[in-house]
Amino acid sequence: RELPGDPRTDTIPREVLHACYSKVSPSAEVGKPELVAWSASVAKLLDLDPKEFERPDFPLIFSGAVPLKGGLPYAQCYGGHQFGVWAGQLGDGRAITLGELLNSRAERWELQLKGAGRTPYSRFADGLAVLRSSIREFLCSEAMIGLGIPTTRALCLVTTGKNVTRDMFYDGNPKEEPGAIICRVAQSFLRFGTYQIHAFRGNENLDIIRALSDYAIRHHFPHLEKMSKSNDISFEVSQEGSSAVDLTSNKYAAWSVEVAERTASLVASWQGVGFTHGVLNTDNMSVLGLTIDYGPFGFLDAFDPSYTPNTTDLPGRRYSFANQPDIGLWNIAQFTATLSAAHLISKEEANYAMERYGIKFMDEYQSVMTRKLGLSKYNKQLINKLLNNMAVDKVDYTIFFRLLSNIKADPKIPKDELLVPLKAVLLDIGKERKEAWTSWVQTYIEELVVSGIPEEQRKVAMDSINPKYILRNYLCQSAIDAAELGDYGEVRRLLKLVEHPYDEQPGMEKYARLPPAWAYRPGVCMLSCSS
Ligand code: AMP
Ligand code: MG
Ligand code: MG
Repeated sequence: RELPGDPRTDTIPREVLHACYSKVSPSAEVGKPELVAWSASVAKLLDLDPKEFERPDFPLIFSGAVPLKGGLPYAQCYGGHQFGVWAGQLGDGRAITLGELLNSRAERWELQLKGAGRTPYSRFADGLAVLRSSIREFLCSEAMIGLGIPTTRALCLVTTGKNVTRDMFYDGNPKEEPGAIICRVAQSFLRFGTYQIHAFRGNENLDIIRALSDYAIRHHFPHLEKMSKSNDISFEVSQEGSSAVDLTSNKYAAWSVEVAERTASLVASWQGVGFTHGVLNTDNMSVLGLTIDYGPFGFLDAFDPSYTPNTTDLPGRRYSFANQPDIGLWNIAQFTATLSAAHLISKEEANYAMERYGIKFMDEYQSVMTRKLGLSKYNKQLINKLLNNMAVDKVDYTIFFRLLSNIKADPKIPKDELLVPLKAVLLDIGKERKEAWTSWVQTYIEELVVSGIPEEQRKVAMDSINPKYILRNYLCQSAIDAAELGDYGEVRRLLKLVEHPYDEQPGMEKYARLPPAWAYRPGVCMLSCSS
């Protein structure tokens, strides 16, 4: 039996059985690495003095060329369902954890280099990352936290000074691109697939699932440990259904419910800002309910429920915007099936977690959409009608909601003036569509009047949930084009911009405009997994 993480076998691609990780050191070839950008708020989480980023050896440490003092680098083993099909062992193929850090507030943060070279989990690939996708992950992690959505973070982004070869999906030609590495930071990178892999490897591995579950609960859900009376399954199911599952008697059941609910809230908040992850495989699902693994993601420009940013997702559109809530549930079903296979939770408890997912999602989604409209009560008809209108006229999701707070709760506004506040997004619409929108705005104004929320208060509340600035794919692309020519100014500007997406930012208006025509060209609005 292979020892977990035998450094002698280092980066040979293989099945690593009976193990959760392998010791492996960063090995990406590095020339003269450069610091492209860093996040001040992540540095604060780690108690890192901003002066550290000026150290001449900083880019060397964060490209893996010089070891981090006190680090114990390793890569995690995990599996996953890719596009609904069990894919076997995947694992950290290019991510290497440097170690964990305990900050002054006793929070534990894991630091991980992405693109730092091969690991036993690299399969046929090179273990590297290119500047293009590293900029996207760096910016989007920080954009998400700015939006108030749980996510893995990014401390910094460095170039390696070496090129990497990639096939470009839209012309099929290989291209040399600058290599780069981001340092990701999270309390944990445990995924659904981290648990699943051991269940798929057979019964003799079930004890690993228990140990890993104990680990997650002890470190990341300690409140569940305290409340549980015993670790053994003892469940009562009433005749009325699963609502009588007693979560105080089984910490694993309570945990599965919390994972389900966190996932549900996460997906609801994605729907609120128009974020489409693009690759919701179970290996890309965090047990902490974080947005994780930014690849071919995209924010909605023109509203289109069937939008998928991932070329690999065509024509099935499994991971389209509108499918995300269902996929979240499908993934929770796989996660609870794993805990159930390991005899940690019963079938009833697994069903209960799935039921909680549905309830939590609907609660959160309704609340998000109600707040986006500035109302006090959920109105299903009004929201459905709106989304339907938006889809028909391909209305920009972000700008529309930001403009909506300019509509006055005044039923006396003349009919032909009702659409004035929205005219920037209701372009080229014919007479019939104008009628449809006018009728919607009339109903909306009636609802605003009923809600009775004072004008100024409503505007403030709406502007704090409807972002002015989002990280549109074309904005990323502009920053990438400049960075590939050695100019990192736009990456840094965008970082500052997306850190405060709800604020009016004087001088930054051009970032809040409708995307230009080139934003819809392949490679900008859609991407592949190859990065
Ligand atoms: P993803 O689709 O990005 O979630 O990746 C699926 C799997 O492929 C994970 O195990 C990744 O670590 C691995 N992977 C992706 N890109 C690379 C790469 N360039 N080198 C090695 N492994 C990779
Ligand atoms: Mg992944
Ligand atoms: Mg990826």
